[in-house]
Amino acid sequence: MSKQIQKTWCFASSSSNTEYETLQYTDNSTSCNCPGWTRRVDANGNRSCKHTRLVDMGRADIIALSCHEYGSHSQLAPRPPAPAPKGKTTAPPAPPARLGARKLLLD
Ligand SMILES: [Zn+2]
Repeated sequence: MSKQIQKTWCFASSSSNTEYETLQYTDNSTSCNCPGWTRRVDANGNRSCKHTRLVDMGRADIIALSCHEYGSHSQLAPRPPAPAPKGKTTAPPAPPARLGARKLLLD
């Protein structure tokens, strides 16, 4: 299964009108779709760019155009509690058995 995204940031490119999206996964690894991140690979095979470094420094929130956090509590829209099943349970209660018994006697 693919990694879970923890948070995303949207950064404006300094050189064009493009916006780059930087992702942070729940294992704290990061990824970015800017050319810097795509091209740069260090000796350990790790990639980084100015955006992922801002994330690592905790400054991404200040500089990013926007960010979105995928907390474990808000990963999906919270589901409302299931409503109680309706239908037959709302039917009027059966008449008292004694009434039916008397009726049988009258017949
Ligand atoms: Zn980047």
